[in-house]
Amino acid sequence: MESQIKEFMDLVKKRNPHEPEFLQAIEEVAETVVPFILSNEIYNGKQILTRMVEPERVLMFRVPWIDDAGKIIVNRGFRIEMNSAIGPYKGGLRFHPTVNLSILKFLAFEQVFKNALTTLPMGGAKGGSDFDPKGKSDVEIMRFCQSFMSELFRHIGPNTDVPAGDIGVGGREIGYLFGMYKKLRNEFTGVLTGKGMSWGGSLIRPEATGYGTVYFAQNMLETKGEVIKGKTIAISGSGNVAQYACEKALQLGAKVVTLSDSSGFIYDKEGFDTDKLAFIFDLKNNKRGRINEYVKKYPNASFFAGEKPWGIKCEIAMPCATQNEVNKEDAKTLLKNGCYVICEGANMPSTPEAVHIFLNAKILYAPGKASNAGGVATSGLEMSQNSLRIVWTRDEVDSKLKKIMSDIHNSCIKFGKQDDGYIDYVKGANIAGFVKVADAMLAQGVV
Ligand code: NDP
Repeated sequence: MESQIKEFMDLVKKRNPHEPEFLQAIEEVAETVVPFILSNEIYNGKQILTRMVEPERVLMFRVPWIDDAGKIIVNRGFRIEMNSAIGPYKGGLRFHPTVNLSILKFLAFEQVFKNALTTLPMGGAKGGSDFDPKGKSDVEIMRFCQSFMSELFRHIGPNTDVPAGDIGVGGREIGYLFGMYKKLRNEFTGVLTGKGMSWGGSLIRPEATGYGTVYFAQNMLETKGEVIKGKTIAISGSGNVAQYACEKALQLGAKVVTLSDSSGFIYDKEGFDTDKLAFIFDLKNNKRGRINEYVKKYPNASFFAGEKPWGIKCEIAMPCATQNEVNKEDAKTLLKNGCYVICEGANMPSTPEAVHIFLNAKILYAPGKASNAGGVATSGLEMSQNSLRIVWTRDEVDSKLKKIMSDIHNSCIKFGKQDDGYIDYVKGANIAGFVKVADAMLAQGVV
């Protein structure tokens, strides 16, 4: 078996040199899916995984714009249309200086499995730019978004490819992107998700990834007869996903003690409450400030510059910032301090070494493609509402989100439960996602 995985990976490495994140995401899937394919006659020999690791289309384009000082800046834009076997391409846009082909291909590949897990008809894609929104004026952000869309509009559409937000792309950016798309196409459609409520957005979409991650943690705890109430949680990040994971965890009676950004993390040993969280929402979303400003307002808390929160004692860890933010040492420290639930809000936040440590320790470990799927699922619900031209209530969307998270959890159990009762969520999520996409690909022929 090892040799077949190696043979497959050798081929993928040869075709995608210098793309470490993409190879990492593929290897994690290959470890569980290759053995599954070899033991299932209908998939064996059909080259399905080989087809799935090759994007259906990769777009790269120039994004020139003019800053407030009148200087011409050139960024690079991308859209990876990975797989459309079960629906139009769907996946976020990331604006961050680290963005490159490898990172977007890993995200698009993960998105294919994640979208399949939601049970909604969405293919997988990802896109973005190496543009850094930090420190830019609103007008600079608008000019950049307009330039980015002046190329992307040719390739997307409500039945073709429906982008959404990701790191660096929130409600403000989606607004500017949507405005430009509408102008260029002269049509008002559900071409982007994460829209504002007065122009086609869905209630709960901003909250959905964070809320869904907490719902998934609850589902995992239930398998041990436990609840989230009373548990201490360490969260990383302080953006969209982290903020709403924190909000839902507080609503359910948990104690959240950390948040972070790329400058370091804050530790509030008394735990956040609604007032403290409101301060963070305002700081990050309106003032666009840095997380260390929290300790000026709440001096009982501490700020640890340049550090990650994984050394803080907790029962549950929710990495909600970025890829590979939990390494081997972090994983060991978390376990040593008694952490036994890792529920990923970010995409691929744990390195392969960290994942193996969690699985070997048989703790409750949920990979992002399962636990953070609530965001794209609610984007799917936004697309449905746009097509039907109706608006569901907050409660309606929230209950659909809860049901989807619970269904994803059940799919992970179906394909991931081991003989000793341990649930391998990595295996479960990979195989459940694979089966749905592979069946559609087999039915549609070699295209
Ligand atoms: P935001 O841009 O809203 O927030 C990102 C947060 O992560 C910020 O606090 C940011 O700090 C921190 N961060 C980003 N890069 C780094 C880094 N290299 N090192 C340390 N901290 C970093 O993004 P989101 O909350 O939307 O996304 C967070 C994660 O969740 C990503 O992995 C994303 O792919 C994933 N995700 C998002 C979904 C969504 O609906 N938004 C859906 C599913 C997954 P700083 O401000 O200092 O950069």
